[in-house]
Parts: sequence; C-alpha cells; structure tokens
Amino acid sequence: RKVDLVYTRVRTEEKLLLEALRRRDCAVTMVSDSGRVLSMDRQPASESDTVLMRSMSFTRARYLATFLEMKGLRVLNSARTISLCGDKALTCAALAAKGVPMPWSFVAFDEDACLEEVERRGYPVVTKPVLGSWGRMVAKLDSRSAAEGVLSTRFGTGGAQDHVALVQEYVDKPGYDLRVYVIGRAVGGLRRRSEHWITNTARGAVPERYEVPVLHAKLAEAAAEAVGGDMVAVDLLETRDGHVYVNEINHCVEFARSIEETGVPLPDLIAEYVVGSAR
Ligand code: ADP
Ligand code: ZN
Ligand code: MG
Repeated sequence: RKVDLVYTRVRTEEKLLLEALRRRDCAVTMVSDSGRVLSMDRQPASESDTVLMRSMSFTRARYLATFLEMKGLRVLNSARTISLCGDKALTCAALAAKGVPMPWSFVAFDEDACLEEVERRGYPVVTKPVLGSWGRMVAKLDSRSAAEGVLSTRFGTGGAQDHVALVQEYVDKPGYDLRVYVIGRAVGGLRRRSEHWITNTARGAVPERYEVPVLHAKLAEAAAEAVGGDMVAVDLLETRDGHVYVNEINHCVEFARSIEETGVPLPDLIAEYVVGSAR
C-alpha cells in the first residue's frame, strides 16, 4: 500500500500513525500541508492511492481533501466529512437531518436577533465559534448582560464570515463529558473529568478509562454516519439524569494526551482501517 500522510506538525500522533502504517508494510510518504501547490485538473497529485489527512488547519484540510479527491485519491476522512465536522453549525445540521440527539441549537446572523432568541429561550446557554477547537472561545451565558457582552464581541469584531452565532442549550454535565472513537465502528472511548464545565483535555480535564456502553456506541456510530466519517472522535454530553447527546465530531482524531488512560490502540486501529480501505 502507498499512503500519503498529510501533516502540519509531526506530533506524537503522526509519529505513532507513521510507525503503525509501516508495521503494516505501507510505503508512507510524509507530506507537509504548507508546501503544497495543487493545480485544478485531474493530473495525478501523488503516487499513492490513499491519503491520511492529519492537517491541523481546517482551511488546508478541507481544500486539500477536496482537490486530492478530485484528482482521484481516496482521502480519510473525506472532504465532505472534514467540511461538516470542521464547522459546528454544519455538524448540527447534519445531526439534525438524521435525527441524532443533540442539545437544541440555533444559528443567528445578527446581534439583536440573536439576543432576542436567547432571551426567549432563557439562560444559561452556550455559544461557541462555528470554527474552533480545544475549547477556545466557548462561552456560557448566564445573564442578559453576559449575552450582550459576548454577542457584541462576536458581531462587532472580525469580518462578515465571523458574524454567525451558534447558540445551544447548556447541558448540566455530571463533571465530565465522553468521547467515543469511531474507526469504522465504535472502538472505545474516554471520559474527560474536570471541575470546569469545559472538559477539553487541552484545558486540563483528566482523561479516564470508560467502557463504552452499547447505547453510547450506537449513538456515536449514528453521528459518524451522519457526517460520513471513517475515523472520528464523537463527543457526547451526558445529563445528570442520564440522557445523552452528541456535542461535536472531530475529524482529526487526537490521542496523545489520553492513549495510556484509554487503553484503546488508536494508531493500530487507524492504520488497519487505512490499509483495509486502500485500493
Ligand atoms: P471544541 O471543538 O473547542 O472542543 P466543544 O463544542 O467540544 O468545542 O466544546 C468544548 C467543551 O465545552 C466540551 O467538551 C464541553 O465540556 C463543553 N460544552 C460545549 N458545549 C456544551 C453545551 N452545550 N453544554 C455543556 N457543555 C458544553
Ligand atoms: Zn472540537
Ligand atoms: Mg470538543
């Protein structure tokens, strides 16, 4: 098998994936996402037939996946999956279209219209950038004055492309959220425990072992299917009374901070999936 591994930085994840692919007799070419110049034609872009997309940049990942697919390569995850998962508003729409349980959500394009709808629904609510990760700029609004502050920043800074607010029900979690890895199927997961309501490991949450119950596995698989994801990390929010919602779907699975706790051999599972799906 010939595989291109597209990267931004060669992190622990990319090193482990490279080793796991090589152990399976893959000829892996490491391709930096920054040096690429792609012509808009069907000229082959690579000697490989499969691309493992590990770019950390949504812009580069989405465009590169689109163009490499156009040039006949199989890209994991696909351009469609990257486009849907990288934009939280589009993720919500894809989940809603398939009836996958999620916190109620709305988008608004204007400060006053958004504030009015928040007031109508009541506090607390969560708002987050449609593009973003690692818990950055995720905000909980407890009051009208908080909402006014955050929304005036959202709509008063940046360019037209930034002037969209995604607002969601605040889910009162029992001190953790859940992440289920779907590599073709649900293969395991982890619980992320924190004193803070934002439970990203990048923000200090502690990863814990979590035996994924069938219900959660099925929910995560349904979420992955809704976005056509081959290999994704599905974040679930559990309520204190045991309901469970899909919060987001990550198309570039990160595991360096949690591989020991979870006991899920993600590099091997991903490499196996790549090899199995290569033409
Ligand atoms: P990111 O892509 O930055 O990880 P998330 O949507 O996953 O964005 O939000 C980061 C964290 O914030 C989640 O892991 C969760 O702990 C918390 N969070 C996000 N949305 C909600 C919500 N609607 N209710 C409660 N907690 C939330
Ligand atoms: Zn995310
Ligand atoms: Mg998240």
